[in-house]
Amino acid sequence: MPEVGAEVVVVGSANVDLVLPVRRIPRPGETVLASGLTRGPGGKGANQAVAAARAGARTAFVAALGDDDDGALLRSALGESGVDLSLVTTSDAPTGTAIITVDESGENAITVAPSANAGLTLSADAVAAIGTAKIVLSQLEIPFGTVQAAAGASGYFILNAAPAAELSDELLAHVDLLVVNETEAEAVAGAKLASLLDRVPAAVVTLGAAGAVVLTRTAGEVRVPGVPVEVVDTTAAGDTFCGVLAATLASTSTTESDLTNAVRRANVAASLSVQAAGAIPSVPHGDAIDARAA
Ligand code: ATP
Repeated sequence: MPEVGAEVVVVGSANVDLVLPVRRIPRPGETVLASGLTRGPGGKGANQAVAAARAGARTAFVAALGDDDDGALLRSALGESGVDLSLVTTSDAPTGTAIITVDESGENAITVAPSANAGLTLSADAVAAIGTAKIVLSQLEIPFGTVQAAAGASGYFILNAAPAAELSDELLAHVDLLVVNETEAEAVAGAKLASLLDRVPAAVVTLGAAGAVVLTRTAGEVRVPGVPVEVVDTTAAGDTFCGVLAATLASTSTTESDLTNAVRRANVAASLSVQAAGAIPSVPHGDAIDARAA
């Protein structure tokens, strides 16, 4: 169990990212040469846990890693960022791997081998930590059943429905806040963003450089404009957004006006993350976010 109760519990994936810079992302059937290869810690769950911890929330991570060098790399990166690892289990399967190609404009294409992530289940200790956390945050790189169990056990559940998937009413019944990009929004509720509110009480749709839109049943749509920056690499922009959003909601409340303010802070944080390369290395700390937001 986390020594002191966690404010934010992230239930999700951890991968080692193999990053290949390319002039352009290959089309089907095409081979391209990369200008290098780097290996670093990542995975949506790990990135989001680091973002929440660096933004200032006491954060615990529920995840499965392999008993291998990649698992050790992730443990050390998460631990250095202040993430509580007492609910991270060691699997017989290898640590998950993501192959990421990044082109010269900073756009990326990602293929994930889930490996240990595919076997993640909730221990009794994890269920207890989820039950007492202020905010629980999950994504879809782990089994649906595990996401569903976390949703059912939590007080306030944020689902980052990524990668894009169609979602059951059974799962969405436990979702307090859905965070999606435009492609993922369409997979959940079709092209009209407002239709998301037929399925969940509140949603945030991220719009890349254009920022984000907050949708609530009481206030309708509130636009939060993007922060103009020079893009180096957009990897983990969405994860930084989600982790900082969760951390900020844990330190305020989940009312509609606090939600919009939390989205503003998450938007600033994500704009900082696109200015640096890599996943976890690009996630900003709370002081940098608040200096830019002030
Ligand atoms: P990714 O998969 O690249 O992590 P995503 O598709 O999940 O991202 P996006 O909507 O592309 O999500 O970006 C998430 C957030 O990151 C945006 O809401 C915005 O705050 C920030 N962001 C992304 N791209 C840019 C950009 N070019 N300039 C400034 N901010 C950006």
